Amino acid sequence: MEKKNIDWGNLGFAYHVTDYRYVSNYKNGAWDEGGLITDDKIVMSEDAGVLQYAQTVFEGLKAYETEDGHIVCFRPDLNAERMEGSAARLEIPVFPKERFIDAVKQVVKANEAWVPPYGSGATLYIRPYSFGISPVIGVKPADEYQFRIFVTPVGPYFKGGAKPIVIKVSDFDRAAPRGTGHIKAGLNYAMSLHAIVTAHDEGYAENVYLDPATRTKIEETGGANTIFVDEDGNLIVPKSESILPSITRRSLVYVAEHYLGLKVTEREVFLDEVGQYPEMGLCGTAAVISPVAKINDHGREIVFRDNQEKMGPVLQKLYDTLTGIQMGRIEAPEGWICRID
Ligand SMILES: *Cc1c(COP(=O)(O)O)cnc(C)c1O
Repeated sequence: MEKKNIDWGNLGFAYHVTDYRYVSNYKNGAWDEGGLITDDKIVMSEDAGVLQYAQTVFEGLKAYETEDGHIVCFRPDLNAERMEGSAARLEIPVFPKERFIDAVKQVVKANEAWVPPYGSGATLYIRPYSFGISPVIGVKPADEYQFRIFVTPVGPYFKGGAKPIVIKVSDFDRAAPRGTGHIKAGLNYAMSLHAIVTAHDEGYAENVYLDPATRTKIEETGGANTIFVDEDGNLIVPKSESILPSITRRSLVYVAEHYLGLKVTEREVFLDEVGQYPEMGLCGTAAVISPVAKINDHGREIVFRDNQEKMGPVLQKLYDTLTGIQMGRIEAPEGWICRID
């Protein structure tokens, strides 16, 4: 398969229209057969449920070429399951897991020429989503929905290694207790936009959100979970019902325990305690791990000692092991790597 003529190493994280997308429509109580189409535009009612009441959920995962030249994606079954849960919470009909995985395979295979070559650092980002497409004016779920997946090539998240970032404690709240923080919904992002623009204007790379009920515990950033490394080199992972269950974070926990022999403690983590930890990382599909150099809490600086010039040693080992597993350089646990070609 001839690759597209793209400067893969210099791609940013931006949307490019690719050749095929997968679409299935839900009407009269059932999803249709679905399939690949070339039209990148969606025509819908001006009163579609997604436009009026934000009835939409999404996923994000990557396809890439491994060292031995296969196209694969990483744990798509977990994205499928998470999207089932997100959809159910917003009264969107569930697109079944098996069909989700099959659709991911179809759309990646059809856009094979857009999968960046091994070693370029670039990947093919996959965006599945589901939304209410029929008109609603009274507040209720739409009657009709569309499930869609597009793909777009994205560049290496960090060019020339991960630079530790400085983040701030946000004065805004991300997710209420018993709210929707645990599902992957556009609504959680809409409300974070003002907070992130404000943080950027003040010179911070990201916001870290606290639990809204007490504002004493670390939840996560706008789009990544947090992890900490203690003085003994073990992992501490914040636990809360309103944190989005990151697949990267869950995979890192497994790698820490089963590949690196670290102790992992998942529990509530207080803002007041994190100053004693030498490393803090943000984890998500895009960057895998971003090191945090400092948190600014209203003028008080919390410094992560081993993350100053570059990612600290424990996070680096976690990063190298997980990316090694993803790229086929280290043997993966059963079922983690899904072959597409
Ligand atoms: C998607 C997302 C993450 C990261 O999840 P991954 O499955 O690791 O990509 C973390 N936090 C939020 C709020 C997210 O939406």
